[in-house]
Amino acid sequence: MIELRGISKVYRQGGREVPALQDVTLRVEPGEVFGVLGQSGAGKSTLIRCVNLLERPTEGRVRVNGQELLSLSPDALRKARQGIGMIFQHFNLFSSQTVAQNVAYPLEVAGLPREQIRARVAELLSLVGLSDKAEVYPARLSGGQKQRVGIARALAPRPRILLSDEATSSLDPETTRSVLALLKDLNRQLGLTVLLITHQMEVVKSICDSAAVLEKGRLVEQGKVLDLLSRP
Ligand code: ADP
Ligand code: ADP
Repeated sequence: MIELRGISKVYRQGGREVPALQDVTLRVEPGEVFGVLGQSGAGKSTLIRCVNLLERPTEGRVRVNGQELLSLSPDALRKARQGIGMIFQHFNLFSSQTVAQNVAYPLEVAGLPREQIRARVAELLSLVGLSDKAEVYPARLSGGQKQRVGIARALAPRPRILLSDEATSSLDPETTRSVLALLKDLNRQLGLTVLLITHQMEVVKSICDSAAVLEKGRLVEQGKVLDLLSRP
């Protein structure tokens, strides 16, 4: 379902070359929750952004939902991206729009009819437990509620994959647990494949089936979480 093969990424910055990823190969099976663990600067964010081509790898191949993303036309890539939702550490909500408007946004971009959008937004808000917040602005929400809006918006186009870029890193431990529980629920209920990056071992332990460890741009370990944890 997600297959990165031999991915390398070099950033060019003022004549200097910064290698962020080196020969990363990783496979996420359909229906899995897969965690990439690593310290700050390890290349996690670059890695996850290579999956939807927000970042273009310098080398390697990206296969998602059966398509080689690097060989798609801009139009086909736009379509392919609808199958890949993403959530962020700082939620990335539009502060001047209500919760319902934030969630409706990708559906409006996709050109769905008004009535269908309204019904789908109501369904999504119910899915994340925020039916009573439709008319509220993000500033009035707690961090956990903001991330639930982010999740509802990401799921609006019915993606089969959700990418999570440190989605719980700015939340307190209790809120982190509840957002992780929601992600696990969505994984089970919808068969959603989740690829997440985190610097917190607890996140991997609590919801991931498989995991990989990234160090200085290289994957140093990869496997089932139970096997990784039981190693000496
Ligand atoms: P992580 O998410 O694990 O903190 P990143 O993927 O953000 O790691 O960064 C990996 C390396 O790439 C770091 O050395 C970082 O400074 C560098 N880097 C990330 N983005 C850019 C960029 N746009 N331009 C130049 N260097 C970058
Ligand atoms: P606009 O005037 O830009 O359509 P609205 O606030 O009326 O702004 O709605 C934005 C989008 O959010 C619309 O697609 C609308 O159907 C949806 N929406 C607004 N309020 C709700 C709600 N309470 N439940 C479900 N969807 C809603």
